Amino acid sequence: MININDFNFAGLKAIVRVDFNVPLNEKGEITDDTRIRGAVPTLKKILADGGSLILMSHMGKPKGKVNPKLSLGQIANAVAAALARPVKFAPDCAKAADAAAALKAGEVLLLENLRFYAEEEGKPVGIEKDDPAYNEAKKQMKERQAEFAKTLASYADVYVNDAFGTAHRRHASTAVIADYFDADHKMLGFLMEKEVTAIDNVLKNAQHPFTAIIGGSKVSSKLAVIKNLLDKVDNLIIGGGMGFTFIKAQGGHIGDSLHEDDLMPEALNVMAAAKEKGVNLSLSVQTIAANEFSNDAERKPVDIFNIPDGWEGMDAGEESLKNWKEIILASKTILWNGPVGVFEFENFAHGTGEIAKYVAEATKNGAYSLVGGGDSVAAVNKFGLADQVSYVSTGGGAMLEAIEGKTLPGVAAIKGE
Ligand code: AMP
Repeated sequence: MININDFNFAGLKAIVRVDFNVPLNEKGEITDDTRIRGAVPTLKKILADGGSLILMSHMGKPKGKVNPKLSLGQIANAVAAALARPVKFAPDCAKAADAAAALKAGEVLLLENLRFYAEEEGKPVGIEKDDPAYNEAKKQMKERQAEFAKTLASYADVYVNDAFGTAHRRHASTAVIADYFDADHKMLGFLMEKEVTAIDNVLKNAQHPFTAIIGGSKVSSKLAVIKNLLDKVDNLIIGGGMGFTFIKAQGGHIGDSLHEDDLMPEALNVMAAAKEKGVNLSLSVQTIAANEFSNDAERKPVDIFNIPDGWEGMDAGEESLKNWKEIILASKTILWNGPVGVFEFENFAHGTGEIAKYVAEATKNGAYSLVGGGDSVAAVNKFGLADQVSYVSTGGGAMLEAIEGKTLPGVAAIKGE
């Protein structure tokens, strides 16, 4: 695989898959431009070399139909501002050959939302999976997807993927397109490289002790992550709503706390596997219980195995935090996904804030820390600690799938795995 730093784009047209799926308000104004800023280093490198840029992205879920509310035309000015140069706009991403051919060195062309074409995602439209004709429809759609990808590829000499947030999808622009470039003309952008390296740092090159902190609401959404981590970590901290399924499975009384009865056997399996593999599984011992699911509820610390009826565990108690602090501060590698309480409620955010502080402190002492997955990113931002951890991953779903041990199609298409 070639490295973007070693490539000279002079005189070449680069088609770059970026993630410009930025949030817009009702007036079509960008409310958070993090994703545009995230792509700038890659785009500037290509322009500085003397290349030209064809930018492609999706926005929202138009499901294969043109939807003016999701037009990337709305963000062309913001992209122009970020790159400090004019940006041309191609109103139909599949009919941009002439506009692309006319590009001169240093010029930028932004393509309309890729998902205005169902071919981008490559899923058959208007037919259910149980329909006898589904398989044929799927086959046909895959052929159309390959054609669509080939059209996009025809605009450029080089393909760069810098959209980590969609790296776990095998879409036309994220993976299929790579088939139309040889190994010397496709590469990851800087943002993608940073994400992939951060994940490799914890999954492949971790220094020990390695601690994973997994919180959030449901065991079901993170079971695959937990299972894969059991082969890698020394300590596994399970907190937040998902912890109660583990407590109930052991016969604990969890009152009205969030839990998933059908996952109790899996929770016991995880506990047995941790024991067998010598992983220190640290569950909560004390919770801050509330008499209703609200910020203003009455609250009190209770033993996690004896939560009264009518009360539910909403935050990590001091006894739990004491155990977790000790583990986190002794770690050399830390992976954190998911809050350990209902941190959106000010009165139940203490535990998650403390975890963020411990992770920041361990990082200051030399540990490598990776924080990822929507809510934990929101949590480190909320407590102003994002710049005190080693890396904050922007791709929630992609990061979780990578931690599950899955190969990301967007990365594999370039690495040739
Ligand atoms: P996830 O998307 O699975 O990472 O879950 C994040 C959500 O879990 C956040 O919205 C938290 O409010 C929620 N959460 C964390 N702890 C608890 C808890 N003890 N009870 C209910 N929800 C929780």
